[in-house]
Amino acid sequence: MTPSTVPRTARGGIDLGGTKIEAVVVDARNNVLGSARRPTPTTGKPSGIATQMAEAMTDAAKTAGLEPSALLGVGVGSPGVIDPATGAVSSARNLPGWENRYELGSVLAETLGTTVAVGNDVQVATDAEFKLGAGKPYKSILGVFWGTGVGGGLVLGGKAWVGRGGAGEIGHVVVEIDGAKCLCGRRGCMEAYAGRAAMEARARRRAEKGSRTELFTLMKEHNRTRLTSAIWAHALERRDKLAVKIIDEAVTALGAGIGSALNLLDVEAVIIGGGLGIRLGEPFAKRIAAEMLPHVFNDNPPPDVRVAALGDLGGAVGAALLVKSVRRRAATPAGAPRE
Ligand SMILES: [Zn+2]
Repeated sequence: MTPSTVPRTARGGIDLGGTKIEAVVVDARNNVLGSARRPTPTTGKPSGIATQMAEAMTDAAKTAGLEPSALLGVGVGSPGVIDPATGAVSSARNLPGWENRYELGSVLAETLGTTVAVGNDVQVATDAEFKLGAGKPYKSILGVFWGTGVGGGLVLGGKAWVGRGGAGEIGHVVVEIDGAKCLCGRRGCMEAYAGRAAMEARARRRAEKGSRTELFTLMKEHNRTRLTSAIWAHALERRDKLAVKIIDEAVTALGAGIGSALNLLDVEAVIIGGGLGIRLGEPFAKRIAAEMLPHVFNDNPPPDVRVAALGDLGGAVGAALLVKSVRRRAATPAGAPRE
């Protein structure tokens, strides 16, 4: 490849997660040319997170032999409420100090020297699986991203469905009336049982009450400050009783929540992604499918359950897909219906 062909078509993608920031540079066919990763700051303000994002993007561009300003554009998948027109983000609850509106898109565009488009992290990852990954054979899919929280994304009849902007919040489907308190403030949400943050809080409470567990010893041994997906996986390998119990409860909740969502939507496939979903992989996708089945009304045959195929980089690759769609949207006359 000659140097002049790379910069014109290369796009950047950043996945802003609760635990890590993942950045990639892809070519016109979405092949990854370079990538970089940073931990998401756990304290401070949105501006500090934006700085880490810009640095991750710059590093990814360097590994692809480019300056960030040479990219056609950069797409960002972010949690929270997104204003797609300006790239502003508010109410990103899993991130420190990010309740109010912050002009993430403009700040990154200024720092990186290229256009920046911001979309919802989970929808971006679902679109990526639909176009490039495990969702390719289907017309309608439900993406379930099992990580710090539990996010969901929808593609129905080939089109992303975002509702009024808040569709796909499968983590807040109720799996138990008056159940466990969720970080969103409501009760009985699926995420209150299956989100990694909730699972960690639950593990701490039970450990303090005397349940024996190696979870927190493993966390220290691996120099982590949180129970990451890898720590949960290690604890399961060692058959740590508390870890096994909490994961069992999570899988049961996922089965009930996903089964209920399927009764409403009857999509062809469920794609399981997210940090825990990918780390635990196929055996757990099978377990989730088995837990889901008793709840599924249209079960002959039941929808397929697949593990996300794009892996850890899926969110960032999906974010890079935003670069095109925003250009198309920018060409839509004001007042015209959204795509
Ligand atoms: Zn909730």
